[in-house]
Amino acid sequence: MAQGIPDDVMMNAALIKDLVDVAKDAALQQGVLMRIQETPNSSEMVTYTSFTLFPTPVPKAPFLQALALQTHYNTLVDKISQDPDFLQDALASTIAVDDFTARLFRIHQQILKEGRSQSIVLGLNRSDYMLDQGEDGKLSLKQIEINTFAASFGGHSSRTTDLHRTILKVAGLLEDSQRIPDNNPAAGLAGAVAKAWELYGSERAVVMFLVEDNQRNVFDQRFIEYELWKRNVPTTRKRFEDVCKSGSLDQDKRLFVDGLEVAVVYFRNGYMPQNYVSEQYWDARLLMERSMAVKCPDISTHLAGTKKVQQVLAKPGVLEKFFPDQPQVAEQIRATFAGLYTLDMGPDGDKTVAMALAAPDRFVLKPQREGGGNNIYGSEICEVLEGMKEGTERMAYILMDKILPTPSKNYLLIRDAPLQISNCLSELGAFGAYVRRGKDTVMNECVGHLLRTKGSEHSDGGVAAGVAVLDNPLLF
Ligand code: ADP
Ligand code: MG
Ligand code: MG
Repeated sequence: MAQGIPDDVMMNAALIKDLVDVAKDAALQQGVLMRIQETPNSSEMVTYTSFTLFPTPVPKAPFLQALALQTHYNTLVDKISQDPDFLQDALASTIAVDDFTARLFRIHQQILKEGRSQSIVLGLNRSDYMLDQGEDGKLSLKQIEINTFAASFGGHSSRTTDLHRTILKVAGLLEDSQRIPDNNPAAGLAGAVAKAWELYGSERAVVMFLVEDNQRNVFDQRFIEYELWKRNVPTTRKRFEDVCKSGSLDQDKRLFVDGLEVAVVYFRNGYMPQNYVSEQYWDARLLMERSMAVKCPDISTHLAGTKKVQQVLAKPGVLEKFFPDQPQVAEQIRATFAGLYTLDMGPDGDKTVAMALAAPDRFVLKPQREGGGNNIYGSEICEVLEGMKEGTERMAYILMDKILPTPSKNYLLIRDAPLQISNCLSELGAFGAYVRRGKDTVMNECVGHLLRTKGSEHSDGGVAAGVAVLDNPLLF
């Protein structure tokens, strides 16, 4: 069996045209949808979420490795979130110069001072990887980052399996269609939310999706909502503004928004500085953090997902401290780390600057931002670093080795973009879900995966950012 899509399929223009028609219709019928840019808050006009025509060949071993590691990554994030001294040390330099991280950190400190009012913790995250093609040509799974806040596309990726299987069958590749692994993150993510809701213990209370002002990607979230309703867990969608206007805590710190008691706040908004358009939005975040509602994520878990924490974990011995009795787990996690370098003031940071300036194409410069489109590459690294190498602003960034995956050919189906064969790079994500009450881990699972693919001309990714598109692994 060929490892990828055979050339006679890939290059057959008439067949490709038919397949594209089938693919777009199937995407719409499966609900792999986005609202259009012009009307992001109305479902009158929708289109398909961008996706690849074909699934992308991915070797089975690193795919399974990513899935197997996920429960350990869940544990790691959860442990970090419970270690205020670690977070303080790791983020000290960053918060001195990065206002957004500093504000989040202040909320974290205030919650610590007041004492947490809820012992139930709900974590939904996605650890992202690329397969690095080392100098020896051997592929190795390397982590790009972990998202502990609003990790998206768990909904859509629950539907693209059938979509790609159908396309392969129509292309006459019946046997290959079985090489696409099953995937249903929506059910697994919802299962964890439902568990947290149940532990909260009030049937009247709702799961509140804290949603964006611009809701183009509503359908991805809807899949999780429907999975919750299937389990008779009530959900509601509210914006920061709604919480500003009507959010309150009762004497037991129960959170009420628009008259509804909130058992779980599932944040799908609030990870970018621009999400907080006024001081009232920050007040609303603090109100939710203080409340008895289960927060997904809570403020400490949000901070545990910063790129600065990722870099600090890569320092010798740091990761190992979180797994004192399981050195093999620390070893497995560390094996997925790429080179990560501090830009703190001092000799280590100076060394990083010199290294980056000498070979900028080997690295990615990352600020503490999320959502795609924020990283700095190539000659721009030099411009930015030259501009601040003596200054403390550099502490807002980390430097990372650039991972070099093997390109593969595919067609990217993007609304209004010309159909053409593209050289593509893929990023694999593993979805993690866990629930803890006090010291008891109630649930800790890997609940599925996401493959995203982008044209190799793009350095940065992100489906919502319009660069990467949904994909599936074709295992070999
Ligand atoms: P964000 O939180 O904005 O998603 P990421 O760290 O995931 O930030 O970076 C965004 C994109 O940039 C990734 O999806 C990937 O395409 C690219 N990227 C990030 N880090 C690396 C790296 N070390 N090597 C190669 N590409 C990278
Ligand atoms: Mg990312
Ligand atoms: Mg991210």
